Amino acid sequence: MDIFTAIYFAALVIEMIIRAPLNQKRKREKMSESRVTGQEIFILVLLLFGGFIMPIIYAVTNWLDFANYILPAWAGWLGVLILAGGLFIFWRAHADLGLNWSPSLEIREKHELITRGIYGVIRHPMYSSQWLVAIAQPLLLHNWIAGFLTLVAFIPFYFLRVKAEEQMMMERFGDQYQAYMHKVGGVVPKF
Ligand code: SAH
Repeated sequence: MDIFTAIYFAALVIEMIIRAPLNQKRKREKMSESRVTGQEIFILVLLLFGGFIMPIIYAVTNWLDFANYILPAWAGWLGVLILAGGLFIFWRAHADLGLNWSPSLEIREKHELITRGIYGVIRHPMYSSQWLVAIAQPLLLHNWIAGFLTLVAFIPFYFLRVKAEEQMMMERFGDQYQAYMHKVGGVVPKF
């Protein structure tokens, strides 16, 4: 395994460490609404293949070698930089969203609209962080399949998810969310 592949897997572990405590605490939460569609589950499975299963196959077997490409070292280090930015945003988003976080489209009974911290400059920091990780991936895993599948799956995921999520938040928080949308950028910060 080369250094960039190792760094990619280290990032996955860091993401799991950031998420684990919230995942644990969330189990006790009562939800008032859940909007998970079959379409979304399909894309989530594709993301699991792109982010985890293909990278493992790439790292431990030679099955995907036919699709390898070569990049100069600076491109790998650029990937590390983008990845680090993504992880930082991922961490801040979890810290600020707390128990309001959900892996799917859900609203908990005691849901609070968060507009502070990183949510004061950007409405979808977690998705921004996932964009960054998805962009870093082909710079770290030098393979057309293991490198790019996440990006291919994330593009439809992002557009479907954001649309449905904003719709849900608008129905729950009404004018408050509307005002928040006007003030704060979506996936790119507005200062
Ligand atoms: N789109 C956000 C959150 C992703 S987690 C981001 O990219 O950081 C998805 C869940 O977060 C949704 O089910 C919704 O209930 C919740 N959510 C999204 N924006 C929120 C906000 N500003 N305050 C509280 N909860 C929010």
